[in-house]
Amino acid sequence: MRKTLIAPTKRIVIKVGSAVITNINGLNRQRIETLAEEICALRCRGYEVIVVSSGSVAAGKGDLGIVGRPKSIPLKQAAAAIGQSRLMRCYRTAFRSRDENVAQILLTRDDLANRRRYLNARNTLMTLLEYGVVPIINENDTVVVDEIRFGDNDNLSSMVTSLTESHLLVILSDVDGLFNSDPHNNPDAVLIHEVERITEEIESMAGLSSNDVGTGGMYTKVRAAKRATMNGCGAAIINGLEPGNLGRFFDGEDIGTYFIPNTHPMAAKKHWIAFTKKPRGKLFIDQGGFNAIVSDGRSLLPAGVKGVEGGFDRGDAVRLCDRDGNEFAKGVINYTLAELLQIMGKKTSEIETVLGYKYGDEIIHRDNLVLTQSEDKE
Ligand code: GLU
Repeated sequence: MRKTLIAPTKRIVIKVGSAVITNINGLNRQRIETLAEEICALRCRGYEVIVVSSGSVAAGKGDLGIVGRPKSIPLKQAAAAIGQSRLMRCYRTAFRSRDENVAQILLTRDDLANRRRYLNARNTLMTLLEYGVVPIINENDTVVVDEIRFGDNDNLSSMVTSLTESHLLVILSDVDGLFNSDPHNNPDAVLIHEVERITEEIESMAGLSSNDVGTGGMYTKVRAAKRATMNGCGAAIINGLEPGNLGRFFDGEDIGTYFIPNTHPMAAKKHWIAFTKKPRGKLFIDQGGFNAIVSDGRSLLPAGVKGVEGGFDRGDAVRLCDRDGNEFAKGVINYTLAELLQIMGKKTSEIETVLGYKYGDEIIHRDNLVLTQSEDKE
């Protein structure tokens, strides 16, 4: 069954957690060697592989005398600056000794939220894959501030699946997969082998646990799996500490947890609006506008807007909220805040009269609008 499910896979994103490739002293070179061995074996089997690897902070913090997690953001960034080159050197040595090349890609959420930079990053990644190079991606920790952070590499890896139109996201973790309760606290916890749909029940199983070295716990992994599957990409959480697990998974063995991709995937652009582009302001929508969007699948017109909050520019993403202030959609807006304040509540035919020009009848065109689900509100 597993074999059939993963058979169409060609392009894979492998997310490597800090817990998999580091130990108390920093990088665990032996693990990186083993991982490179397994990834090269997958490459020989014809798979295209993109790696999203954590580990820079864990690799660099020792030089700063830090034990445990760095306490402040500047310390974390300094540790990452030290550790990232070390991390890449390890990967490069391990891959070169197997005649494979690697490339470093450092991203911030801002890079992917900007459509042009998103497409540039995509072109670079595609070129690397075309030339048989294994891209190794990490968050650009040294420059990120909160507003432009992915937050954790689980999240980053799910965005990379959409960026690269990958077929499968494999999250290598220090646990065997998703259990029906936290296996650290409950010896009777049962591993879930297959998830058809990531329901609230599944999410609650993931809880909010986290380990000592990485940023995300099982919750961020399941959320990443959800975002990947919504994009039509399969996802798996397997134990990366167990040598040979990657190969076994691709042989079709029933290890880890496999999340079946959504049969009606979101278009790549809508996925980008929903998850990658960070929303700025809020628009409050009246009942008529709400019905038109939610029930009839229509665009947002000026008449439907009854209030705004926050600043935004033309081309920014904004949240749409109902009468009670609850977010129900996100979209890319065609007008600036100053323009919207003049035309909101008015008829479409009045846009040009009021502004002296118009970018279109829609405040947000349906193609740039996506209904959000409760767990995806940030
Ligand atoms: N970018 C961080 C690092 O390389 C890790 C973030 C994460 O583990 O989610 O250490």
